[in-house]
Amino acid sequence: MSYQMFLARALQKLGVLRALELHHSKPGILIVSHHRIGVPTETCFDRNLFGATVDELDAQIQYFKKRAPIVSGEELENLVSGKTPVKHLYVAFTFDDGYLDNYTKALDVFRSSGTTAAFFLVSDYVGTATVPWWDEIAYRLRNTKRTEIQLESPTPLKLSLNGHRGVAIDAVLQHYKQANTVQAEEMMDDIRREAECELPEVKRRFLNWDEAREMQAAGMTIGSHTLSHAILGKLSPEAQKKELEGSKNAIERQLGSNVKSLAYPVGEKGCFNETTEKIAIDAGYSMCFSAYGGINNATHLRRSNLLRGTVPSDPDKFRAVAAARISPWTASLVGR
Ligand SMILES: [Zn+2]
Repeated sequence: MSYQMFLARALQKLGVLRALELHHSKPGILIVSHHRIGVPTETCFDRNLFGATVDELDAQIQYFKKRAPIVSGEELENLVSGKTPVKHLYVAFTFDDGYLDNYTKALDVFRSSGTTAAFFLVSDYVGTATVPWWDEIAYRLRNTKRTEIQLESPTPLKLSLNGHRGVAIDAVLQHYKQANTVQAEEMMDDIRREAECELPEVKRRFLNWDEAREMQAAGMTIGSHTLSHAILGKLSPEAQKKELEGSKNAIERQLGSNVKSLAYPVGEKGCFNETTEKIAIDAGYSMCFSAYGGINNATHLRRSNLLRGTVPSDPDKFRAVAAARISPWTASLVGR
């Protein structure tokens, strides 16, 4: 358990968090980052992407709704541009990758609660059964009969698969993010060769254009998550431009609306850079989202790097962490 979590839970036990929840929060925009909705153990792919079940997502929305306005894409844009002053706390929900469960599960939760969220699509994945690198790594490492595998690229990594495979999967996913484009391909070849197991037959995994149109009609914001989910910071400026402009054009053609928001793939520091931010603004995006945590406030409110963070799926942990994030006193105490 992290120090932050330990402290938040201790405060919760003492009843301090409940008092803080009633206290006025500091002005700012708290943006929640999600990927998939559902039960993690029901997938044979990457379980880390499941940020909440349907019930947990509903509880998260209800929790924030009582404490701060949950803003639409347009309202968020007005806050970010300064058209609406950030006088108190606002909350926004976002979803990366465009998995089918965003349509089959998340959409109804937002509709029935009278709130909205932003969904960032990888335009090449829309309507397809693509198994992206993170899902492929998770599947092969969880299903291989090998008890140890050896990767050579980008640096040698010997992995024992005797213990909890989730730990090994996390280690390889982190390793992948360190690799450049060529090394990443070599690494996937290593994994395919070493794991000696084939991917399963899969049905469609990503929402399609009709579903995206229905979500947009229901008030959801549809944004870009690039053409191919390439990690932008590893690409040349020309290749980044192609990813950002290409996906924007593809989504606009299909949805008939202006695409103004972008979530940087992976979104961690180093996965995009100042060049990326400039290219994104030049391409016509007015809200670009990272994913390494933090709240957007007077200290940091930048349209080319809007801070987002995840929240725990477990309801008790969620409540503790959410309360800590919206309170300045607790936030400074727990380092967020
Ligand atoms: Zn993503």
